Parts: sequence; structure tokens; C-alpha cells
Amino acid sequence: MQDETGKLKEDFNKEMDAAPSKEIIEESISELKTVIKADIKEVPVVKNKMETQAGQKTKAERKAQTRTGIKTQVEIKEKSEFNKNEKMDAAIVTGASSGIGHAVSERLGALGYEVYGVGREFAQDALWNQAWFHPVVCDLLDTEKLCAYIKEAAAQSNICILVNNAGVGYYGLHEELNPKKIRELVRVNLETPMILTQQLLRQLKRQKGAVINIVSVTAQQSNPHGCAYGAVKAGLASFSRSLFDEARKYGVKVAAVYPDMTKTNLYRNADFREGEEEDSYLLPEEVADAVEFILGQRDGVVVSEITVRPQIHRIRR
Ligand code: NAP
Repeated sequence: MQDETGKLKEDFNKEMDAAPSKEIIEESISELKTVIKADIKEVPVVKNKMETQAGQKTKAERKAQTRTGIKTQVEIKEKSEFNKNEKMDAAIVTGASSGIGHAVSERLGALGYEVYGVGREFAQDALWNQAWFHPVVCDLLDTEKLCAYIKEAAAQSNICILVNNAGVGYYGLHEELNPKKIRELVRVNLETPMILTQQLLRQLKRQKGAVINIVSVTAQQSNPHGCAYGAVKAGLASFSRSLFDEARKYGVKVAAVYPDMTKTNLYRNADFREGEEEDSYLLPEEVADAVEFILGQRDGVVVSEITVRPQIHRIRR
């Protein structure tokens, strides 16, 4: 890769000496950028593998590193001779530490985005070790800290995608919930997406980016034993629809994904979970497919809502 970069640079210099046309200069710069982009992606992967072989950092060390600020890209950028000022396209994904958010983060990484993934507790899995993944250890209820992290991410990268995915679920008869749980439901599932979108919207308009809200089929129906959960999801659906209308003329793609029962940890507080049959639940990767489909549309086309359901409805208690 270095040889190829060197050769392109040499060709570029020769052409410069020969007083080239504007077209030749532009073509050379574009070729250099392509090579350098690939180069940047290769360097950190190698670095991370070496780091891992030399002895993995403990969770506490990694957490400490994250607490002092989001892992910086400066080191990576310095490896490139030419594009020191070029930022990478990036996504912010809340709830990246498990389930759907984890799968969406992996997919966005595979599509070539840097990912700033927010969560409170990350396992040291393959995602953590990817150079393009920046774990942001933050409780979404700490709005001040969250906004500071988001500002830092926006200063370091071209944030062009926001995936509002994080969520909590409390179920049961409504009188069995308590004010703390209700407040958490509202704040994580509805307040946080609205705050993050507000913080990033100017930048997303400049980037002609995307806001993808992971809602739920509960937003579309009546939910006995899940009144509060259904209500906040309906709120998020309403926010998504209105934001689409508000932001569409600025080139921002706003979309809502409505998954049905998906095999994740969401039901850890419930007295039910998905059925045992494979056709009674979705996998997180299948929700990530919907996100990829939304992002794969050409400029000018927005898939603003997608509902994904398993073939049969069955839960087990
Ligand atoms: P999950 O595995 O429990 O994931 C929830 C994520 O949200 C976790 O990464 C969790 O991170 C994060 N989160 C929750 N509270 C947080 C807080 N205070 N601060 C920071 N992060 C927080 O469940 P999931 O099914 O993937 O849920 C993802 C989204 O899909 C949710 O919005 C959910 O409502 C929606 N959804 C799920 C289903 C389903 O059947 N599973 C169906 C429809 C919609 P930490 O644990 O690290 O804090």
C-alpha cells in the first residue's frame, strides 16, 4: 500500500512539474484519496491486533481510557501523509453494547463507517477490538456527560448517521411499575433520542445524513401489560414522523424501524420472552438488515418506515 501511495505521489509530482491541466490535478488527487482511505483503514486494525496479542487491556483499563475521552482518531490520521485534515464518516449508535445496537454497529463498521457506540457496560468482544469502533461508556441518563461526549465525537469525525437504539423495557400491570421505572422508560427511550437529535441535527443537515430511530411494533398497537413502554415508543414514532417532514428538505433521511419480538436481553425484566421456534422471533442482525436497507437508498429516496416481524406470534412465560 505504501509503494502504491509513493508511486501515485511521484506521478502526481511529475505531473505538477509539467504544469498539468486542472483535470489531471483533480484526477490525481482523487486517486490519492482512494489509496489513502484504504491505507487508513488498514493501519489501526494491525495496531489493535498487536495490542491484543501483547496482552489484552483489562475492562477497567479500557473504561478508564474511555472516561478520559472518546478514543481519538488523531493517531490514525497521523499515519497518513496527505489528508491530515480529512475526517472519517461516522455514526453514533446508542445501546451499542448489546442486542440490536451491537448488530447495527457491526453492520455500520462493515459498511465502512467509524462507529461511536454508547452503552454502560461493554463486553470485550470482537466489536470492542475493531479500530473503527469507539466505545463511549456513558449512562444516557447523565445528559451533561452524554452531550460532552457527542460534542467530542462530532469534533473528531463527520457524524453523518445517528441511530437512536438504546431502550429499556418494564412490563406488567401499570400499577406495578414505580415512578423511577416510568421516568427511566421515558428518559432512555424518548428523551435521549430527542436530545441527541437536537444536538446533532445541524451537522446532519450539513452532511445530508440520516437519523434512524429503533422504535417497536408496540408503537402501532394497544399494549396491556406494557402501557408505559408502548406509550414512549409511540412518542418516538411521532417524533420520527414529524422530524422526517421537518428535515427532509435539508437532505436528511429520517427513518423509523419497527421491530417485533427480537431475541435480545430486552426482556430481562419481563415474565415472558420470545418463543423457542425460530420463526417466532427476529435476530438482531435482521433488524440491522433494515438499517442497511435504509442507508442503501440513493440520494433522493427515503424509506421512512420499516416494520419487521417474525412469521408467527408466540411468546413463552
Ligand atoms: P438490549 O439487548 O437490552 O439492548 C438495550 C441497549 O440499550 C443496551 O446496549 C443498553 O446498554 C442500552 N441502554 C439501556 N439503558 C441505558 C442507559 N441508561 N444508558 C446507556 N445505555 C443504555 O435490547 P434490544 O432489544 O437490543 O433493544 C434495542 C432497541 O430495540 C430498544 O430501543 C428496544 O426498545 C427496541 N426493540 C426491541 C425489541 C425486542 O424484541 N428485543 C422489539 C422492538 C424494539 P447497557 O446495558 O450497556 O447499559
